[in-house]
Amino acid sequence: MQNIILQPSIRQKIDKRVDKILHDLDMPEPPLRLDDVRELLRLDLGYYQGDSDGLIHQTIHRLTMAGKQIIERPTILLDALRKFSIKALYIPDRKRILIDETLPKKKHRWATGHEIMHDVLDWHELALRGDTDVTMKQSCLDKVEAEANYGAGQLLFLRERFAREALDSAPSVELVKGMADSFGNTYASTLWRLVETIGITKPVVGVMHHHPHPRFSSPKFDPANPCRHFIRSDAFAAQFSSIAEMHVFNSISGYILPRKGGPLGCESVILKDDNGDDHEFSFESFSFYHECMTLCVHLRKRPLIVGVGSISDPTL
Ligand SMILES: [Zn+2]
Repeated sequence: MQNIILQPSIRQKIDKRVDKILHDLDMPEPPLRLDDVRELLRLDLGYYQGDSDGLIHQTIHRLTMAGKQIIERPTILLDALRKFSIKALYIPDRKRILIDETLPKKKHRWATGHEIMHDVLDWHELALRGDTDVTMKQSCLDKVEAEANYGAGQLLFLRERFAREALDSAPSVELVKGMADSFGNTYASTLWRLVETIGITKPVVGVMHHHPHPRFSSPKFDPANPCRHFIRSDAFAAQFSSIAEMHVFNSISGYILPRKGGPLGCESVILKDDNGDDHEFSFESFSFYHECMTLCVHLRKRPLIVGVGSISDPTL
């Protein structure tokens, strides 16, 4: 699934809110303790028993289908959560975050950070309530979700703290793994934050995908939708808007090693920009067994090879 690119002005607005939280917590060291953030914001956290299938959160808007009725009657809420496989949500009236207890522990941090942002970004309340037809529009809800995800990334990776470290090193899968450990977050969220950070002026793509080799194919593999996340940096989205996730996935499939886990190979891949010019990217892939990660970083624009005709006479 392709990420939504947010406007710089909205990012700055979100950054300011996150800066205030980190300032109020005396600029904490990684990993950020989310209990401290919740205490600061007086947010309650609860768990519920849900369904084991489905995506994290993205379906929060479905909750609003029953509107206020859900918020007022918890039994209806629980039924809705089960029905739509919602993994986490925020109930503004009660300042309460609910997490599906069947969600893998590692993903609780991201889900909690995301719900915290729905509280902090107060203009989300209307959309989460689903009060009007306007706020129910899918595009509006997608934007609200993208804002909460962006804010969660800023919060969980401590804003400039992550940016300084990320910009000091060469981008690589090893860097993502190391920073995921030190900040205590998932590989996918670390990849996301790295692409956002280094990719403002440099075209970069991060992909979380199934193993492309048929021998290690997962039962969850959907050939029409092979990437769980297709994260384009600002510069990539601006210059390579015609490059679709399937094209990148096919390029990865072209060099991947027939190995279940660990490094899956590196390759130099040519991608065309929107003007039709060729650019060389460095692709690096790694398998975590249940899922693979590929980092694609722009190297250089390919020089035009101009035909020089046949200057073959050595006596000239
Ligand atoms: Zn959300």
